[in-house]
Amino acid sequence: MTSRWQESMMDNYGTPQLALERGEGAYVWDTDGNRYLDLLTGIAVNAVGHAHPKVVEAVTKQISKLGHTSNLYVNEPALALAERLLDLCGVPGKVFFCNSGAEANEAALKMSRRTGRTKIVSTVGGFHGRTMGALSLTGQPAKRTPFEPLVPGVSHIPFGDVAALEAAIDDDTAAFIVEPIQGEQGVVMPPEGYLQEARRITSEHGALLILDEVQTGVGRLGTWFAFQQAGIVPDVMTLAKGIGGGLPLGVTIGFGAAGELFKPGHHGTTFGGNPVCCAAALAVLDTIAAEGLLEHASAVGKEIAAGVEALHHPAISGVRGAGLLLGIMLREGVSAKAAAVAQKAGYLINPIQPDVIRLAPPLILDESDAQAFVAALPTFFEEQA
Ligand code: PMP
Repeated sequence: MTSRWQESMMDNYGTPQLALERGEGAYVWDTDGNRYLDLLTGIAVNAVGHAHPKVVEAVTKQISKLGHTSNLYVNEPALALAERLLDLCGVPGKVFFCNSGAEANEAALKMSRRTGRTKIVSTVGGFHGRTMGALSLTGQPAKRTPFEPLVPGVSHIPFGDVAALEAAIDDDTAAFIVEPIQGEQGVVMPPEGYLQEARRITSEHGALLILDEVQTGVGRLGTWFAFQQAGIVPDVMTLAKGIGGGLPLGVTIGFGAAGELFKPGHHGTTFGGNPVCCAAALAVLDTIAAEGLLEHASAVGKEIAAGVEALHHPAISGVRGAGLLLGIMLREGVSAKAAAVAQKAGYLINPIQPDVIRLAPPLILDESDAQAFVAALPTFFEEQA
């Protein structure tokens, strides 16, 4: 299966490492029957683990009842999900559904144009997707350069730098978009108080604060959303990845007045609010609450971080992140090789930068699996000593 791809699929992702066939809980199996602990795809595929019975049941029931409807009509799962998300946010607002993180940010970008301003400030190293609008917001040159010219009016300032933000934002700025933690850049944390300062500065100039919570939202950091940890309310929040329980779902929420920026005809997408995807997301949110997965993610994340630090391994310089979004910082250049060795040993980890391994397991990851991973970690560097 791994060699067949070359005949029929575009080479966007390089040679596939594995052909996967099945998943259950925090495990996946390849086509040869080998089992792997999935510390990687939790970020996107599944907050609650693979093939969670509640998600399977919700999807099966919904697709046999109503699999799709035109967005000229509304459907109960979409309505219930919008209400539930606003309830979890604890802030009045309005919800727009789409199919991916890039699309959720496209919607946010278009919403910002409705302010009548066109200047956008984003961050160096920030990742917001790969469609042309979302790519314009993304601050990673290697991804942008081959596709320039991009949407005009976007500037990129260093992440975490309050003085740079103060200098970049003025009364012509439509929005500042930022991730609470830069996921794709290697789980980079801003300094304490950064989001609060971003809120203050954007408010002072009447600019929207857009938080891209595609990686940090839906329980990953041990709270429903990162903005709640920071004690601020953004104007716009975007979600995707883990919320759909493995189904494609993007969400753009406008809080307060930002929820009124779009008028009929401004924006839309065929599958936005698809009842099956929304039913899956409701099952994910139910499961996170019913199984206490916020507290669990926080506790297991802390345990992994402490365990990795306690190894005092020469290849590891530290751990950063929060909840179950962790970056293990390494000696430069060893992450790809370590991930390859880990895979042979039955662990899927993500060498996100040459010197960082990102861990983003399903939130249900249990303590014994987390401990087994920490114990195995030194062996991933043995051949590279
Ligand atoms: N925003 C962030 C913070 C992301 O990490 C990603 C995906 N890595 C995206 C947006 C884009 O999401 P998608 O791949 O679903 O378009």
